[in-house]
Amino acid sequence: MRIGFIGLGNMGGPMASHIVEAGHDVTVYDMKKEAAAPQLGKGARWADSPMAVAAASEIVFTSLPGPKEVEAVALGEAGLLQGAAQGMVYIDLSTNSPTLVRHIAEVYQERGLHVLDAPVSGGPIGAQQATLAVMVGGDRAVYDRVKPVLDAIGNKVSYVGAIGSGAIAKLVHNMIAICTQAILAEGLTLGVKAGVEPEPLRKAIADGAVGQGLMLNYMVPNVVFKGDFDTVRFALRLARKDIGLASTLGREYEVPMKVANIVEQDLVEAMAKGWGDRDSTVPFQLQEERAGVKVRQS
Ligand code: NAD
Repeated sequence: MRIGFIGLGNMGGPMASHIVEAGHDVTVYDMKKEAAAPQLGKGARWADSPMAVAAASEIVFTSLPGPKEVEAVALGEAGLLQGAAQGMVYIDLSTNSPTLVRHIAEVYQERGLHVLDAPVSGGPIGAQQATLAVMVGGDRAVYDRVKPVLDAIGNKVSYVGAIGSGAIAKLVHNMIAICTQAILAEGLTLGVKAGVEPEPLRKAIADGAVGQGLMLNYMVPNVVFKGDFDTVRFALRLARKDIGLASTLGREYEVPMKVANIVEQDLVEAMAKGWGDRDSTVPFQLQEERAGVKVRQS
């Protein structure tokens, strides 16, 4: 297929190379021409603007820093919209604003063009090894049509939902990853300052429920999706005791634990509601009440 690729940085560069290597006819552009050297060396063609890339392509990918650059390339002067022929599919791989993606999709739809948001996860190593997770939002039929091309850049390509859904999933993913890093920092500084060696501590956590991914892969589908906070696997009063012991340890050893202290207050609130004999997952219900939404899936 005739494919365009714009934004050849740490992520876009290796992704574009895989698309060239998969045998497609690829046209590339980056505001820094030198960034295109690896793809040009593999047989890709250079175009002088996003508009020229669009004119040469049936599918155009962008992997750009953020919303400002995506808006300029998708809708701006000498941008994709000015070069695109009817039926072109534009796929944004950047971590971008769902609101902007939906706006671009509306504008493109009026011109008979298709848009998918397809942010990626896995970092430059995943991009180099083509092992990225690709989270796709947009029209299902368009997704099915371009899936073989997406398979060239990642081995975990998944359809998430309507336009903007990929971007939302990616932002939720990164928010959880960033907060997980903060709670790991609290936990590991607590453990090490209280006297445990770093590696045995890491291994103990890795071997436990957290390391086995039970929160996301067991608790969420089996408890939260069913709203089953009353089958008691681990009582709230026991979890409240445990986070209380951990925060007491933090105070003994002068370890600040902001995130753990906020979470402890949620457990205190749930206890005060008389939920001590419900399951320890029941604080999830508190957040659902605050957010005004239930996370259920049949
Ligand atoms: P990067 O800065 O390495 O690459 C961005 C490229 O876009 C550069 O080559 C730059 O010259 C080019 N560019 C910028 N503005 C442009 C414009 N107006 N027109 C044409 N080219 C332009 O960034 P990256 O690390 O490759 O990230 C790209 C996207 O992927 C970002 O949205 C990022 O959040 C996301 N992402 C990054 C990682 C990571 O680990 N680096 C992981 C997942 C997702």
